[in-house]
Amino acid sequence: MPPVFHTSTYAQKAPNEHQGYDYARVGNPTRTALEKLIAGLENADECACFASGCAAMDAIMKAMRPGDHVIASDDLYGGSYRLFTQVFEPYGIDFTFADMTDPANVSSAIRAETKMIWIETPTNPLLRIADIQAIAGIAKENGIRTAVDNTFASPYLQQPLDLGADMVMHSTTKYLGGHSDVIGGAVATSNKEVMEQLRFQVKTTGGVPGPMDCYLVLRGIKTLHVRMERSVQNAEKIARYLDEHPKTGQVFYPGLSSHRQHQLAKTQMSGFGAMVSFSLKEDTLASATRFMSNTKIFTLAESLGGVESLISHPASMTHGSIPAEVRRKTGLKDSLIRLSIGIEDVDDLIEDLKQAF
Ligand SMILES: *Cc1c(COP(=O)(O)O)cnc(C)c1O
Repeated sequence: MPPVFHTSTYAQKAPNEHQGYDYARVGNPTRTALEKLIAGLENADECACFASGCAAMDAIMKAMRPGDHVIASDDLYGGSYRLFTQVFEPYGIDFTFADMTDPANVSSAIRAETKMIWIETPTNPLLRIADIQAIAGIAKENGIRTAVDNTFASPYLQQPLDLGADMVMHSTTKYLGGHSDVIGGAVATSNKEVMEQLRFQVKTTGGVPGPMDCYLVLRGIKTLHVRMERSVQNAEKIARYLDEHPKTGQVFYPGLSSHRQHQLAKTQMSGFGAMVSFSLKEDTLASATRFMSNTKIFTLAESLGGVESLISHPASMTHGSIPAEVRRKTGLKDSLIRLSIGIEDVDDLIEDLKQAF
């Protein structure tokens, strides 16, 4: 097992003669073990780990300069939206939020100043799919970098670098950690220039994970494949159950044949994931709130990707920092319910939903 190196510094033989590590903001052997593992999972040459998914995104975005332009998915994690619009926009970086279900929307948003395309797929919380290969192709033709937030799929179901993306980002808090007991982030890439910029950020701004956090994610990843198999299997059954239920309105899950990008999800991913969103037929905030207060096995909580199933209300929780009119424009209704399906017995989960109805 990889030791947990609880140290801030390393003994050196002589000034400027260290054995790979000098100071723990820059590097730690437990962190290195995690970085090598995630790089391997994403078919990347290298990986840099961070204290959270948000710290990872922050480090990526710091490669931008005032006047640069970024195109990002219009349906995306609320914290990403907040970081882009409330931290980076005031520093003079311009963002366009585009519906990436059609790559043509990305092409038409490109300007001379566009330096990065930020793809989230499947999106949070509407589970829309973007064609990574098509968008990365458009980006390459225009000399633009692509970053993919692969948190929802995990490297077990989707490998963006193989599809042409330049870097892949994770909130390791979710599926990679897998047990809702740690916060972490990672960026994997085979692009030397990108990695140099990330290492510079690690050293200079220091949003790094502690060794125990790295150890927890390392341990979580050992069972990633087993947890994903079971969670996806459960999610497929639950999506079908909800889809057939007379009291549900719309069900959002890429594994349903009625999903608009079902075919694309099938070719781009090796499984449809374990996130399911839905609305009730009685499409009001009050009835959605009642439903979310009534589940017993599904815990009402933010986050996702753990072994235990969670239920959440995106409009007030994960996406509360997105202004209501922006949420409405992308189709995120106040009555939407989001499920993160865990590895419990699926009949227990369905029984829980049944009694909540
Ligand atoms: C949770 C999440 C993040 C942010 O990661 P933290 O570890 O919470 O900072 C980014 N993107 C997606 C899709 C997420 O679900």
